[in-house]
Amino acid sequence: MATRVLIVEDEEQIARFVELELRHEGYVTDKAADGRTGLTKAESGEYDIVLLDIMLPELNGLEVLRRLRKTSEVPVILLTARDSVMDKVSGLDLGADDYVTKPFAIEELLARIRVALKKKGTTEKDDSSKLVWHDLTVDPAAYSATYGGTAIELSKREFDLLVLLLTNRNIVLGRDTLLQKVCGYDYVGETNVIDVYIRYLRSKIDERFGVHMIQTVRGVGYVIKDE
Ligand code: CA
Repeated sequence: MATRVLIVEDEEQIARFVELELRHEGYVTDKAADGRTGLTKAESGEYDIVLLDIMLPELNGLEVLRRLRKTSEVPVILLTARDSVMDKVSGLDLGADDYVTKPFAIEELLARIRVALKKKGTTEKDDSSKLVWHDLTVDPAAYSATYGGTAIELSKREFDLLVLLLTNRNIVLGRDTLLQKVCGYDYVGETNVIDVYIRYLRSKIDERFGVHMIQTVRGVGYVIKDE
């Protein structure tokens, strides 16, 4: 079955260009020209991937993403004209799978779509059993994390990072490795993004439950040890 792509973009010219290129590649496409319509369509579950512009009328792309992630894990690639770290971090933190900065080459967008779809396919197949550390239980299949029965709310990136550290227990993972696995091999941007997510995880787990789970190995990266 053909892959269905939703393009949420108010700039008609860009939307049409992307649509034509995607159709040429065999994708089935649909468009929305404002955030509200985009959210409604994205929530319908009829699409395999969503291309989401950040600067949109009615609801901006980040707000669309925030609301969408309450009900859907559909892969989202942000299209942004802005090139600030804050937009990227908040976009990724809200659960975007990737982003492309305008103006982009269509080949780059196509490559990122393929990566996002492939990543979705592999995470659905792997990660079927629960991961346990002390009182922490993480269930990748159910996308849930609890500590001593208390639910922990994590963003997609925080969750992916935690799963990665837990499945590689006692192995120190470098920032670059973590960045590649969590953000995609072709992620271009600030490498301190990982440090930001580690900080979020520590405040949500280590500090909240008074444990020392994520250890820093200075100059190298991070590790969760069995002890
Ligand atoms: Ca726009």
